[in-house]
Amino acid sequence: MDLGIRGKRALVCAGSKGLGRGCAEALAAAGVDLILNARGADALEATAAAIRTAHGVSVTTVAADITSDEGRAQVLAAAGTVDILVTNAGGPPPGVWSDWGRADFIKALDANMLTPIALMTALLPGMIDAGWGRVINITSQSVKAPIAQLGLSNAARTGLTGYVAGTARQVAPHGVTINNLLPGIHDTDRATALDAGVMKAEGITADEARSRRAATIPARRYGTAAEFGAACAFLCSVHAGFIVGQNILLDGGATNATI
Ligand code: NAP
Repeated sequence: MDLGIRGKRALVCAGSKGLGRGCAEALAAAGVDLILNARGADALEATAAAIRTAHGVSVTTVAADITSDEGRAQVLAAAGTVDILVTNAGGPPPGVWSDWGRADFIKALDANMLTPIALMTALLPGMIDAGWGRVINITSQSVKAPIAQLGLSNAARTGLTGYVAGTARQVAPHGVTINNLLPGIHDTDRATALDAGVMKAEGITADEARSRRAATIPARRYGTAAEFGAACAFLCSVHAGFIVGQNILLDGGATNATI
C-alpha cells in the first residue's frame, strides 16, 4: 500500500533504538524525511546512517534530552515546521506505590506527559496552517489496564491520554489527527531491563523471566519494533485521516478486555 506521505517531514523523538526507531524506519520506508532525536550521539548517528542507506531519505540528527527545556528547544529549532510528530521518551522506573514521592511524580509527568504536550503545543500550529498533520504519541498498555509496578507510568501516561482526547477533537477540523499507540511487551532494551528486574526479584534466569512474561501474552511472544513502526506509519498515512483521538493497543492480546 502506498501510504501517500513521500516527501513529508517527521520529527521522531527518542528514536535511536526500540519503538522510536521502529517508527523512524517505517516512516523512512514510506519516503518521509526525518529529524531524529535521542540523547546518545553514537547510537543516534549509527541509526541515522543506517536509515539513510536503507531508504535514501534525509535524516537530521539532534542529540539532546527531549524531556529538558534546553533539549526540546534544540530539537524544535532543528525541526522547524513538520508534517508528522512522533513523541517518545524513556519510561519511568518500576517500583511499588510506597516508593514514590512528589519529586518522582514530577519527573515522570515531565517526561511522559508534559514533554509530549509541549511538543504538540509547539508543532500543532504549523500543521493547522498547512491543513494537514499527524501526531502519534507512544504511551503504554498501562493506560488501558494498570501495571502495578509501573505506577509512575500509569499516572503520567493517563494524564497525557486525557489531554489528547480533548485536543485531538479540536485540531481534527484542520486535517490534523492525534492518536496514541499503546505498546504491550516489545522486544527492546526497555523490555530486557524489565526482564532483568523480574530475574533479580524472583531469582530466575533471563530466559525464564522472558518465557514467563511471553506466556502471559495470547500471541505467546514479544512484539517487534518493526511491526510497531508499521502501525505508526499507517496512522501517519493519508489513509488514516478519519482515525482521531484513538488509543490503539499493540499487545498481542495481553489486555483482557472486550473493547
Ligand atoms: P528503548 O528500547 O530503551 O529505547 C529508548 C529510546 O529512547 C532510545 O533511542 C533512547 O536513546 C531514547 N531516549 C530515552 N530517553 C530519552 C530522552 N530523555 N531524550 C531523548 N531520547 C531518549 O525503549 P522502548 O522499549 O523503545 O520504549 C519506548 C517507550 O515505550 C518508553 O517510554 C517505554 O516505557 C514505552 N513502553 C515500552 C514497552 C516495551 O515493551 N518495550 C512497553 C510499554 C511501554 P538514548 O538513551 O541515547 O537517549
